[in-house]
Amino acid sequence: MIKITPKKILILLSTFPLWIYAQDQPFFVAPEEQFLVSTDLHIHTTFSDGSVWPNIRVSEALKEGLDLISITDHLEYQPHHEDLPNPDRNRSYDIAKGSAKESKLIVIKGAEITRSMPPGHLNAVFIQDANKLLFPDDPSAGIEEANHQKGFVFWNHPNWEAQRKDGIARLDTMHIDLIERKLIHGIEVVNFTTYSEEAIEIALENDLTMLGTSDVHGLTTWDFDIPQGGHRPMTFVFSKDNSPKEVKKALFEGKTMVWFKELMIGKEEHLLDLVKANISASSPSYKDDELIAKVTLRNLSANTLHLKYTGPFTFHQDGTIFKIEPYSEKTINIKTLEIKTSFQLPFELLNGIIGRKKYLNFSIKTQ
Ligand SMILES: [Zn+2]
Ligand SMILES: [Zn+2]
Repeated sequence: MIKITPKKILILLSTFPLWIYAQDQPFFVAPEEQFLVSTDLHIHTTFSDGSVWPNIRVSEALKEGLDLISITDHLEYQPHHEDLPNPDRNRSYDIAKGSAKESKLIVIKGAEITRSMPPGHLNAVFIQDANKLLFPDDPSAGIEEANHQKGFVFWNHPNWEAQRKDGIARLDTMHIDLIERKLIHGIEVVNFTTYSEEAIEIALENDLTMLGTSDVHGLTTWDFDIPQGGHRPMTFVFSKDNSPKEVKKALFEGKTMVWFKELMIGKEEHLLDLVKANISASSPSYKDDELIAKVTLRNLSANTLHLKYTGPFTFHQDGTIFKIEPYSEKTINIKTLEIKTSFQLPFELLNGIIGRKKYLNFSIKTQ
């Protein structure tokens, strides 16, 4: 007989989030006829200012259920240079790619072009050769070369307090010029532990793709409390399939959702599709001749959903603001005033962000 000790329970609890991934439960159910590819496109290793070897990045990503990553070491900032001369800026990619060979993880080539503001730091992913992006004395030549290589280029941490003292993301003339010339295609609305509603606004106004990345330098498990159920910021790409070609295409088309802590951030159309695929409502049931409908809502995702009911009825046992835990159900008792076989339930998703101080409204029909 297996003796369950408190220590064993602790071990079991501490591995719970990993157990979810091991069970192959997806973080989110993909909308019909779409693939939802989980990515982290901003990661550092010892080959720039990170503290771990590239193969550890692959192990972390596999344990955390990611589908696609890019190692994006700084091209110019090489603080480990004396111990680790780095003549080939593709080397960290090559090691990670080799280490992921037998796994389902896709590793794509990337680099961080590192400039003072403006333009600040930019990531170039889906590039051919990182070495050719190295132009330390020219503010835009690396960005132009990344575009020449048909890479996807995005502006990193536009809210970074080291480059924006007030933490507010705003465009300089140079950014406007780069965006007009279509040399920048995306912007981080989430970086590491920071979040920028101003960056969301910039993305929407300038048709840039929204991204959320870890920009991890240490271990993800420490930075994002993975054993306690945390997760790194991820960008989910709504793609036709999970091939790098289609993921890249979807990135250029702006089809993303950023998952940051309990926030889901994206363009309204994509968030709407996703939420509808991840929440369902049972058919209403009434007890005897009472007029109070019992409806069970089901959350199929790994994220807690914070909901506000916006319809005309009131509830019998809850307020109209409530949450549904990950992969869980919640039964609500709605005073419908008459027996209804089916009806619409309109909600605001309070942690579904579709703009600066804007939250997703959606409606689900009971079955
Ligand atoms: Zn940076
Ligand atoms: Zn970085």
